[in-house]
Amino acid sequence: MDGKKLEYKGEEALKEIERLTAKAGRVQLDILKEILTRNSKTEYLSKYMKGSKDVSDFKLCVPVINYKAIQPYIKRITNGEDSSLITGHPITEILCSSGTSGREPKMMPSIAEDLDRRTFLYNLIMPIMNQYVPGLDEGKAMFLYFVKAEMSTPCGLPARTVLTSYYKSSHFKCRSPDPFNNCTSPDQTIFCNDSNQSMYCQLLSGIVHRHQVLRLGAVFASAFLRAISFLERNWINFCNDIRTGQLDPLITDPECRSSMAPLISVPNPSLADEINEICSLPSWKGILCQLWPKAKYIEAVVTGSMAQYIPALEYYSDGKLPLVCTMYASSECYFGVNLKPLSDPADVSFTLLPNMGYFEFIPLRENGTRLMNIDDDEEVRNDKLVDLVQVSLGCYYELVVTTFAGLYRHRVGDVLQVTGFHNKAPQFRFICRRNVVLSIDTDKTNEEDLHKSVSVAKKLLKPFNALLVEYTSYADTSRLPGHYVMYWEIIYHGSMLDSTAPLDDKVMQECCIAIEEELDYIYRRCRAYDKSVGPLEIRVVEPGSFDALMDYFISQGGSINQYKTPRCIKSNKALKLLDSNVKACFFSPRDPKWIP
Ligand code: AMP
Repeated sequence: MDGKKLEYKGEEALKEIERLTAKAGRVQLDILKEILTRNSKTEYLSKYMKGSKDVSDFKLCVPVINYKAIQPYIKRITNGEDSSLITGHPITEILCSSGTSGREPKMMPSIAEDLDRRTFLYNLIMPIMNQYVPGLDEGKAMFLYFVKAEMSTPCGLPARTVLTSYYKSSHFKCRSPDPFNNCTSPDQTIFCNDSNQSMYCQLLSGIVHRHQVLRLGAVFASAFLRAISFLERNWINFCNDIRTGQLDPLITDPECRSSMAPLISVPNPSLADEINEICSLPSWKGILCQLWPKAKYIEAVVTGSMAQYIPALEYYSDGKLPLVCTMYASSECYFGVNLKPLSDPADVSFTLLPNMGYFEFIPLRENGTRLMNIDDDEEVRNDKLVDLVQVSLGCYYELVVTTFAGLYRHRVGDVLQVTGFHNKAPQFRFICRRNVVLSIDTDKTNEEDLHKSVSVAKKLLKPFNALLVEYTSYADTSRLPGHYVMYWEIIYHGSMLDSTAPLDDKVMQECCIAIEEELDYIYRRCRAYDKSVGPLEIRVVEPGSFDALMDYFISQGGSINQYKTPRCIKSNKALKLLDSNVKACFFSPRDPKWIP
């Protein structure tokens, strides 16, 4: 991708989308050929293609893999071996995905020009939005962006999240002024590693500019809601700062302080009174429209696991602000954009842009619910895969990606459904992440990890002659931060009759923390560092509750023969049933250990 393509703005950007999607098949083939030409000498491709650069050899010989298969190569590179193990370009950084493998975050290779590709996709967003919401160049955007602490690999490569990488890149830092991307947050407040100070300053800045703000947002809906709850806890301090013209002394980061100084150094008691009046209202229903009266929409990912936050967003905006989900991306590769940004969250589809990487698709059974059972380690035959332009309307697929940075036929883990086509490029609805049962923020807990954690924790019951006989879970996001809830049915002395014997609260709390300690790195980070997930809760239910649950599911058409206790419950009725049988609730007494 040459630097010139970064320049696409306005009409030009829209034309480029038309051009790329009109010949999606051709663009995809060219991308694959280019990847094979540039990377044919890598150890990885040589092993399978023996030096060939032929697309047909690629399709025949290169296996479809999970992260586990590429992990040893990535480990070798992070330990100092040459990037040419997997790519023809120097690997410049390692991107830590929120997906995990063996409890550790997956590490994705990234090369310098990947930043051009990501910037290219970001630059499409405003021209698309501008078609539907005019006048966005006449005000500001309050977008809350955060960086995460960054690490270094043994050989000194930066290891960080893809968003941290982007915000710290010159592509972001040295972007030219753009009236369509005039954000309220001073850059220095985004770069602050302390998320509380960053949040404080960004929100305060958004409030100071409240009459110019035309759109609100964060990358994920969960982060935006976290900002609202932060506001609930801090608005009095904001009023104070605005009234006195002095930033709270708890903001100690010098860059934050100096970048905020021009915004608040003149005392503004009338603004402080306005904020005070609005935030003191007995109900915060619709508060966003009060605080930011000119806001036209909220931008955040509200698809996939983030859909659980739609009701809360609608509450705070009183249903008056459209929820806009603009793009679909990952640490492996940025995939595509939503060409109809005002569509209802349930109807959001992403058009995959054929120049971002080489995309293939594993066809899944036509029934969506069957998809989540596909085993991570299930081998996928090469001839099963279909190309981007071969997918069929209405069908479900798992996305597989090949990149310049050295991922070949890598299963991303996302399940998508084809909803239509834009020219020749298919559009996909995000259905789910394969295997994920619980997710609050960027955590993604799969059934296997949940089961392993419970298996460790339940051993703590043994000395008390108590036995865990059944469990299930759900992600409770009714309050912020959301938290994992486990329902446990326990019997004593192997007999349900003796079930009144009390278990010490301490033991149950220890079970909570034992589960958390066993959950993966990202979960523990969300809990201990980001504070975006609250303490895990165990609700002990009456004996027989899980039988009642089974009866309920069977009454809904489930098969007795095939019934397995679902390890995660989404049905409100089923949750109600369990909740009506709860004997006692216990919470984790402390944060799980997390070491960056
Ligand atoms: P990460 O690897 O941590 O960057 O996370 C990437 C994953 O986030 C993707 O593979 C999806 O599962 C999820 N994701 C990204 N964008 C969206 C979106 N617009 N809707 C739903 N899920 C998304």
